[in-house]
Amino acid sequence: MSKRDYYEILGVAKTATDAEIKKAYRAMAVQYHPDKNPGDAVAEEKFKECAEAYAVLSDSQKRAQYDRFGHAGMGGGGFDPGFSNIEDIFDLFGFGDMFGGRQRTRSRVQRGSDLRYDLEISLEEAANGKEEKLRIPRLETCHECTGSGAEKGSSAENCISCGGSGQTRYQQGFFSVMRTCPNCQGKGTIIRNPCKKCRGQGRVEKEKSLEVKIPAGVETGSRLRVSGEGESGVNGGPAGDLFVVIHVKEHETFERQGANLYSAVPVTFAQAALGAEIKVKTLDGEEDLKIPAGTQTGTVFRIKSHGMPVLGGRGKGDLFVAATLITPKSLTKEQRKALEKLAEVEDTDFNDESFMDKVRNIFG
Ligand SMILES: [Zn+2]
Ligand SMILES: [Zn+2]
Repeated sequence: MSKRDYYEILGVAKTATDAEIKKAYRAMAVQYHPDKNPGDAVAEEKFKECAEAYAVLSDSQKRAQYDRFGHAGMGGGGFDPGFSNIEDIFDLFGFGDMFGGRQRTRSRVQRGSDLRYDLEISLEEAANGKEEKLRIPRLETCHECTGSGAEKGSSAENCISCGGSGQTRYQQGFFSVMRTCPNCQGKGTIIRNPCKKCRGQGRVEKEKSLEVKIPAGVETGSRLRVSGEGESGVNGGPAGDLFVVIHVKEHETFERQGANLYSAVPVTFAQAALGAEIKVKTLDGEEDLKIPAGTQTGTVFRIKSHGMPVLGGRGKGDLFVAATLITPKSLTKEQRKALEKLAEVEDTDFNDESFMDKVRNIFG
């Protein structure tokens, strides 16, 4: 099918200015717009045709190319502006709200807002999970007027200015524009006799107590969603959700990384040198730990399954403890004697490789 000349489509001369082309296009777009010609395939075809012509002639580079080479200059099968539908064509040229009627009327039923509740818990509570009673101030449907906002025995009336649609039409030249109705602020209804309890809002602020189950294994930033426990919806809309955001307090003994816990255990010189069985603090008590003879400070031991439970999973992480050699700050007579004896016999030649490695680690 041979294409019609773009200038011919828009009914302008080849010497037409940009303003003339734009004016011609607008007039044709209005004439053939699908809203004005519902179900008319010919009009839709014409509408697309003039949009294509305008897309080329309004672009100086494309227009110059078209002037020199005609449709052949627009690529093999002609120029495809790539519009997927009518709305695209309008948005492309900034005529999005040229036809007010195409605008979606705002739905008056609204979902309630989501609420966020920040909850601080201890590491032990995060490990064991807990039931927490929350007191949440939120907007709930007013029982007095069942949410209508109108005093008992009366009801909201349709807004006369907009006929209940919440929007009014303004005429500007031959374009009409829809605006939010100033009389009802877009609600579409007017309450002459507002409910005294909620002052016509349909919702009242209430504090609700709620039991929330905190699962074992939560960590800082975990979000628990409690479905339908946010604010009530407007005009019968569904309630929003409640999100409980967890903050786990720092622990004085344990550091946490995912499901694993980290801590340090004090070890005396004799215990480290001779090996010993020592007690290690865990999150829920104590564990025995055997350290071998010759344990160095900083040596890390792993105590399996004494970390945090895996959220929503099975099992627990591990507890890692770093042996930390403690030098006594004061000595009894007896201790001093024993140490002096040790000093006489101990080896002071530390120039082996592993020691030098340690020195390098200390000073980076
Ligand atoms: Zn109105
Ligand atoms: Zn009320």
